[in-house]
This record gives sequence, structure tokens and C-alpha cells, in this order.
Amino acid sequence: MLYLGNLPMNVGAFHPMGTNELVLNRRLFKTKKGFDYQKHIFAILLHEYIHSLGFEDEQQVRKLTYKICIENFGRQSPVSEAALTGPWVNLSEEDYDEIAPELNLELVKDFERIDINYII
Ligand SMILES: [Zn+2]
Repeated sequence: MLYLGNLPMNVGAFHPMGTNELVLNRRLFKTKKGFDYQKHIFAILLHEYIHSLGFEDEQQVRKLTYKICIENFGRQSPVSEAALTGPWVNLSEEDYDEIAPELNLELVKDFERIDINYII
């Protein structure tokens, strides 16, 4: 299940271990016009998905995320770049200074529909 929440600006997302939930930082993707957030959303969701498979070590998860991206999209792809840099490379100091007023979780409906058989 995917939630959007107001997290601190230095957090892209998190996965509560032992759950099937991912919480994506809503505020990170509302920062600047023209900010190419789609590549970052992909890289962040892949990163958190790897955590959800039981990988806890942050460095290992970052390496796996990057490896999966370069093997599937190529080293020069925007997704691979996002996996390497994270979304914070383009944020301003003001973006970092903001403090989330509250988590305000919102469930993303139909993120994983049970009537779709994409796992064989
Ligand atoms: Zn992580």
C-alpha cells in the first residue's frame, strides 16, 4: 500500500519494516516547478520496495537500487541518475528549512489492485 505523507525534507520515503506499506514524502514533489520528480519517485519507490523485501542495510539497498536501474535502463538514463543522486541535489536551503506540520497520511487508491495478475 502506498501512502503520501508530510515528512521532513531530508526524507524521501520510508517503509515500516514488517508491513506492506510505503510512505512517500508528498512535500518533496511539490517544491519547484520544472522539477523532474518522476525519475525520483521511481528510484525512491524501488529503494523502499527493496527494503520491504527484508534488506535493512542502507548502503546495500542504495547499491541494489542503482544496479537494478543501470541494468534495466542504462547508466545514462534519468532513472539511474536519480538512483545515484536522490531528489535532494536540486533542493534549496529554504526547502530544507521547512518542517512538516503533521504527517497527514493519504492512501493512494488503486496503487496495487488485486484484480490485476501481473505476478506469474
Ligand atoms: Zn533506505
